[in-house]
Amino acid sequence: MLSYRHAFHAGSHADVLKHSALLLMLDYLKQKDKPFWYIDTHAGAGRYRLQDAEAQKTREFETGIARLWSRSDLPESLQVYCDSVRAQNGGGDLRFYPGSPLFAAHSLRAQDRLRLFELHPQDYTILGHVFAKDRRAMLAREDGLAGLKALLPPLSRRALVLIDPPYEQPSEYRQVVEALKDALRRFPGGTYALWYPLLEQTDAKRLPQKLAGLGCESTLRVELRVRAPTARPELKNGGMYGSGLFVINPPWTLAAQLREMLPYLVDVLKEDNSADWRVDVVGN
Ligand code: SAM
Repeated sequence: MLSYRHAFHAGSHADVLKHSALLLMLDYLKQKDKPFWYIDTHAGAGRYRLQDAEAQKTREFETGIARLWSRSDLPESLQVYCDSVRAQNGGGDLRFYPGSPLFAAHSLRAQDRLRLFELHPQDYTILGHVFAKDRRAMLAREDGLAGLKALLPPLSRRALVLIDPPYEQPSEYRQVVEALKDALRRFPGGTYALWYPLLEQTDAKRLPQKLAGLGCESTLRVELRVRAPTARPELKNGGMYGSGLFVINPPWTLAAQLREMLPYLVDVLKEDNSADWRVDVVGN
C-alpha cells in the first residue's frame, strides 16, 4: 500500500535537516576528483510546487524552509542549502521545493552518477520528467532497499546512500536496519544516511538503539526536535515532533558543521520551548 506522498511534507523542518545535511556530505565527497554515486532508495517526486493542493493542505513548508527563506544571518553550513533552493526558484519567490534527488543533482559534477528508486506510480512519473534530460541519473520503479542490495559495491567504490522511507508500515523500522546490515557487508566504506521520525511510538523510539547496535566504528546520531513529544497520532504529521539522521561513515567535518547549524535551526524552527538538538558520535 503506497499512500504516502511527500508533496504533503515538502520543505518541512524534517526536510530542512535532511537536505542541509545531505548537501554538506556531498560537498565533502566532491573534494576529491574521483567520481562517486549518489543512491537514493526512496527518491520521491524530485520537485514540489508549494502552491499545489497537497502542500497547501498541510502548509508544512511554512514552519520549515519558509522560516529560513528571508534570513540574512544564515550560518555558513546552511548557505549551500538555501542557495540551492533559491536556484530552483530562479532567484524569485519561494514557489518550488526540490526533493533529495534534485538537491543532489544540483550539487553533483559531470563525472558523478545518481541512482534513484521510487515506487509510487505518480511520483515516479514526475521524477521521470524532472530527470528527463539528466544523463547522469538512472531511475527505477523498484523497491529501493532491494535495489540497493543489487548496486553494492558501486563501480565507483565511492558512494553516498540516502535511505528515506515513509515509515508507513511498522515493518519498515526493521527493514532499514536489515538493509544497512547487508549494505555494510557488501560495501563497508560507503557513507549511509538514514532519516527517521521522532515519534512516541515504540518502533520509532527503539530505532536509534537498534542502529547503534550495528556496531559501526564511525557513526553520527543527529536530531532536531521542534516541539514537545506527544503520543497523539491525530496531531499534525502523526505527532512527529522532530526528526533524525543516522549517518554511518560520515565525513569527518560533518559533526562540527552540524553543531554550528543545529542551534540556529532550533532557534528559527522551534514551535515551543522544548525544541532541542543533538549530534552524538556513536562508536564501538
Ligand atoms: N527522499 C525524498 C526527499 O527527501 O525529497 C522523500 C522521500 S519520501 C519520505 C518516501 C518515498 O518513498 C515516497 O515517495 C514513497 O512513494 C517511496 N517509497 C515507499 N516505499 C518504497 C520502496 N519500498 N522503495 C522505493 N520507494 C518507496
